[in-house]
Amino acid sequence: MTDALSTLLATRDWLMADGATGTNLFNMGLSSGEPPELWNVDQPDNIRALYRGAVESGSDIFLTNTFGGNASRLKLHGAQGRVHELNRIGAALGREIADAAGRTVVVAGSVGPTGEIMAPMGTLTHALAVEMFHEQAEGLKAGGADVLWVETISAPEEYRAAAEAAALAGMPWCGTMSFDTAGRTMMGATSADLAALVEKLPNPPIAFGANCGVGSSDLLRTVLGFFAQGTERPVIAKGNAGIPKYKDGAIHYDGTPELMADYAVLARDSGARIIGGCCGTMPVHLKAMREALETRPKGPRPSLDEISAKLGAFSSASDGTGDEGPARRERRRGR
Ligand SMILES: [Zn+2]
Repeated sequence: MTDALSTLLATRDWLMADGATGTNLFNMGLSSGEPPELWNVDQPDNIRALYRGAVESGSDIFLTNTFGGNASRLKLHGAQGRVHELNRIGAALGREIADAAGRTVVVAGSVGPTGEIMAPMGTLTHALAVEMFHEQAEGLKAGGADVLWVETISAPEEYRAAAEAAALAGMPWCGTMSFDTAGRTMMGATSADLAALVEKLPNPPIAFGANCGVGSSDLLRTVLGFFAQGTERPVIAKGNAGIPKYKDGAIHYDGTPELMADYAVLARDSGARIIGGCCGTMPVHLKAMREALETRPKGPRPSLDEISAKLGAFSSASDGTGDEGPARRERRRGR
């Protein structure tokens, strides 16, 4: 493999990814009903500032502002005809910032879920899901993204469709799921399910893992779950900065930079090779994470007790890997 991410992984023990997209853009004035992807064209300086914030805080990888850039999500705003354009420009702005960094920085083309339920439970067919992801992938590729970065996926069917789209676009890819429902995804998948799924794909991801979800403790329990399956692939940990709390009419994440620094070190010691944040993770958190990763010595793989003692209690007694049958829950959205 000669892609930029594989090259970096071959020379480093760990890489740092970026933090939140939504939280940072809301802080720049994005309103909650507005699709962030439109800012790639309408407010490009804000998107440059978002990317630069990650690079200047030490990220080796940052995600493009294209999470909701598929036809299904953009259709909610009448922008389904702009998939290629919004993704191409989102990636091209990233290319510009990465190439000015003075070191290798990977531009990861963010691909979020379609927001629809796939057949047979829902109405979205495999063929249509592949077509939507492929359309988005071609835009990201045209803009110069190094890899596709599929994230916040709940359904194994949707993960498979995104993998197929990456193959059609001839792009290397990474893919994470969001385990936000007592250790499972909303559609019932466990860490063990994802570790098994990636091995069955004809074009497995360069790295796979978990993003978003509940708190950083739960996320690391999921990471340990991947390794319990014996995976040898690079694992991604991209946890939220603490737990969302509704306060004064807005969502706040309660994780401090110190907590995220502890989380980053525990993620590395757990075996994760790519470590970043998700919702609520700001440049100040990233700087603390980078410093901790560079200065604190590597320790043994932590136990669940050590994780909860440092980062807080788990949201559920079990991560679902020992339970019988999938627990399907109501769908929620977001990154
Ligand atoms: Zn998130």
